[in-house]
Amino acid sequence: MNGIVIIGAGECGTRAAFALREAGYSGSINLVGAEPHLPYERPPLSKPASGAVQMKLICTEDMLKAAGITYIKGLSALKVDTDAGTVSLSDGRVLAYEKLLFATGARPRRLACPGRERALDFRNHADAEAIFANAHAGRSVAVIGGGLIGMELASVLRGKDIAVSVIEAAPKPLGRAVPSRFAEKLHARHVAESVEFHLNHGVAEITDDGVILTNGRAVRADLVVSAIGVAPDIALAQEAGLSTGNGILTDAHLRTSSPNVFAAGDCAAVSQPDGGHMRFETWRNARAQAETAACNMIGAGEAFAILPWFWSDQYDLGLQVVGLPQPSHQSVPRATADGELEFYLDGGRLVAAAGLGVGNGLARDIKLAEMLIAAGVSPDPVALTDPKLNLKALLKSARAA
Ligand SMILES: Cc1cc2nc3c(=O)[nH]c(=O)nc-3n(C[C@H](O)[C@H](O)[C@H](O)COP(=O)(O)OP(=O)(O)OC[C@H]3O[C@@H](n4cnc5c(N)ncnc54)[C@H](O)[C@@H]3O)c2cc1C
Repeated sequence: MNGIVIIGAGECGTRAAFALREAGYSGSINLVGAEPHLPYERPPLSKPASGAVQMKLICTEDMLKAAGITYIKGLSALKVDTDAGTVSLSDGRVLAYEKLLFATGARPRRLACPGRERALDFRNHADAEAIFANAHAGRSVAVIGGGLIGMELASVLRGKDIAVSVIEAAPKPLGRAVPSRFAEKLHARHVAESVEFHLNHGVAEITDDGVILTNGRAVRADLVVSAIGVAPDIALAQEAGLSTGNGILTDAHLRTSSPNVFAAGDCAAVSQPDGGHMRFETWRNARAQAETAACNMIGAGEAFAILPWFWSDQYDLGLQVVGLPQPSHQSVPRATADGELEFYLDGGRLVAAAGLGVGNGLARDIKLAEMLIAAGVSPDPVALTDPKLNLKALLKSARAA
């Protein structure tokens, strides 16, 4: 038997390898990772504890050994032949597979302006080391992109007394994934922390002195970081003839257009019950899809279905969002001791919730909201705004009903 090959040793690929063993798979597992480290988590890169870049390992060498996972470190998969069932590696080796998982993740989007090579990316441990090695108190950094990663980086840099400018082409930062109520609060906090925003402006050029905006204005910076989002890493899949779009297209079971090949994590665009494909760029999605793909590679027929969830830490504030809040939803705010929650109703039914508060204080409420969403409740919006309404009791009565 040829066993299972996993391309990409990030959160998703590594979790899939261990999930295969937990599900009882006893064949060979080859985990191929292009980076020169043991598998590590990305979220801590933009949340460095005590100012130092963290390398939070997903597993140790011993754990890989104990699970019988062959980790092929620092090598890339260069070619997949789905007819032959083989993967060619950058050292010339060819691995045969029975089942293959693409967990190739995503790559930073590239700026198109002159001088773009002067900007640092922020995706992996090497990027984080390059940024923080050059970011010292009294210096200045221009962050291009006011999304979650750019804003997290801005908050860390302000904590090191570094002057930060955020350049964002949209009229507001955090517009893509964060509900507007909390995007505005986080924006205001950054302003209060003296982050300088240049909104509604593109980048015309990056020079040795900083960034020239499309309106001609110069933003001085010792260091420029590009955080303009990521694109799914699909080149290898495309060359192998798999169907792709905004990601490697899969069915609900995470199977690609080639029957023995699966895709999961940031690189996968998964078929949705109401049509189209959805791709997520979050830690929990990578883990959950890894587990579904692992089970399905060894014969289960599980459709992938979890509520999207992500978090972000900026200054002392923690944001959590569960479900997919939409502007068309009825939003129901609720004050808590640690911050603020907002619930989102669609046709009266609870479909999403978000919270912003100090530290991890809202985690329990968001967890309860997640369970309420799963229970399919249609709560009274007025009652929901009342902090005295006990969410646990609401869940209990919903389950009893
Ligand atoms: C700085 C930062 C902070 C983040 N913070 C949060 C957060 O607070 N909350 C949250 O929910 N999410 C966060 N995320 C997102 C989260 O980390 C990602 O969604 C998750 O890492 C995706 O995992 P993945 O395994 O699908 O992809 P990746 O982590 O991108 O891993 C893919 C791996 O595959 C390797 N690879 C690609 N092609 C090949 C090939 N041909 N051969 C061999 N190897 C290959 C790549 O080198 C990479 O190591 C953050 C991401 C970053 C970058």
